[in-house]
Amino acid sequence: MATAGTASIDLFVDRPRQPGSAFPLNRKTMQTSAATVHERPAFLGSTKQLLIGGQWVPAASGEAFDTFNPADGTVIGRLARGGPVDIDRAVAAARAAFEGPWSRWKPIERQRLLLRINDLLLAHAEELAVLETMDMGAPLSRTRSTVQWISQTILHFASCTGAATTTTSSHSLPGEVMALTHKTPLGVVGGIIPWNGPLGGQWWILGPTLATGCTCVLKPAEDASLSVLRFAEIMAQAGVPDGVMNIVTGYGSEAGSALAAHPGVDKISFTGSTETGRKIVAASAGNLKRLQLELGGKSPDIVFADADLDIAVPGAAMGVFSNSGQICYSGTRLFVQRRVQEEFVERLRHFSAGLKVGNGLQPDVDLGPLISARQLDRVMGYVKIGSEEGAVLAAGGARLGNELANGYFVEPTVFSDVANTMAIAREEIFGPVISVIPFDTVDEVLKMANDSEFGLAGGVWTRDLSTAHRVSQGIRSGTVWVNCYGMVDPTVGFGGCKASGYGWKGSTEHVESFLQRKAVYINLN
Ligand code: NAD
Repeated sequence: MATAGTASIDLFVDRPRQPGSAFPLNRKTMQTSAATVHERPAFLGSTKQLLIGGQWVPAASGEAFDTFNPADGTVIGRLARGGPVDIDRAVAAARAAFEGPWSRWKPIERQRLLLRINDLLLAHAEELAVLETMDMGAPLSRTRSTVQWISQTILHFASCTGAATTTTSSHSLPGEVMALTHKTPLGVVGGIIPWNGPLGGQWWILGPTLATGCTCVLKPAEDASLSVLRFAEIMAQAGVPDGVMNIVTGYGSEAGSALAAHPGVDKISFTGSTETGRKIVAASAGNLKRLQLELGGKSPDIVFADADLDIAVPGAAMGVFSNSGQICYSGTRLFVQRRVQEEFVERLRHFSAGLKVGNGLQPDVDLGPLISARQLDRVMGYVKIGSEEGAVLAAGGARLGNELANGYFVEPTVFSDVANTMAIAREEIFGPVISVIPFDTVDEVLKMANDSEFGLAGGVWTRDLSTAHRVSQGIRSGTVWVNCYGMVDPTVGFGGCKASGYGWKGSTEHVESFLQRKAVYINLN
């Protein structure tokens, strides 16, 4: 498989972590890193093709579309506009690879492959971080730490390559019967991912695919596909066999829906909006595909008056502002106990004012742009709705102009005195907007926290162990953080419930979900 020549950039700068936040934060008041030097990755510029059966090929229609840098609105490449015909070809290539030797590779062979991928990932760390920043806007501090997180995730999945087992079970059948349970790779997996972190997000599909011997067809988001395409070149260099990983770029309504409905696909792993999730459930009915869905969220983050506010304020703030609010599990409904609400909001305002918004390639930027003009309109629309609903705009609320006018930048925004019934407290905004909702008692806040269609995550900040335990147990969601927000370890994993979807990501359970069980009863009489 051909590879595009890419600039190799060796600078690696680690950033300090903000207490309570899973993400490194470079504040002006904190120790800052060395100046960042970066080059435009050579990968940018040309029209990118589809990866099908180990070959880079144009879309069957011959069409392509522009992809933009959200920090300045410039075109940074063109993506092939894949459609149903391309999905057909990619699924056929994935099926052929699955039926070849790949699915019978020994665990140690797949483990070695994953370790080679990890070595190449780290060798290309800076190039990939820069590419991801230019493609979807997150600050380099974040995309660099994403690369480290991917490495950890690869090592986790490399430790799971023995999951396809055959076991004998004791049983109560009469006579001499041996009962075997085989776990074998499931087959062809369709991965549909969003734009808010594709470099890392694809690993929730690639990791279990490579660990088990499945094959996959990936459909990255039309707004950000470049890091996935570049990483595919690196995977080939590491020795991933042709057809094991296929990529069809394009629009959701064309390539995405064709993949979701395809009868040759055994499972869909989807991350994105709840609305699209519902369409994917409907599309899966044809061949009763297995599904893993990580959808929207409106997570409650609950601050009690006894919390250490020095940690809770930056931790809860970055639980929303990280990635400019474009994270499914952001703690956007920030419940604050009434007797500290005023102080908390004042501190939040001060903290927000100290954050630097700008082009993520700049060394001291904390928040990058939103992904697109469409998301910018959506977020600004909610800022307007919040004010109209009677919430108090305590910080931010404006689009940034001057040298940032060509990008999609919004100030970190805080609404206070929000009611849990307001649209800004019920609907996923997917931008840097916090809704502070006052409460008095544990019972009251748990009732409000669970009064949401979503159930992805939640947080609680308190020094009282029994409050922490009661509230973390009481929030109806797949993940809860106590005195921190947003940490995800691949060996533990995370997931959601209610309209936030189902199917655990990470841990051995995730790997098991890429395996098919078969019981074999052998009459030994
Ligand atoms: P989306 O759900 O439309 O897109 C996510 C992925 O699904 C993309 O790859 C897209 O091409 C694909 N897709 C779209 N329609 C499809 C269909 N009918 N069948 C199959 N695939 C399809 O999300 P979006 O438009 O990018 O963002 C809209 C909202 O979704 C955001 O504002 C946010 O609320 C939410 N969102 C959530 C996450 C998350 O991590 N949970 C990520 C991105 C967006």
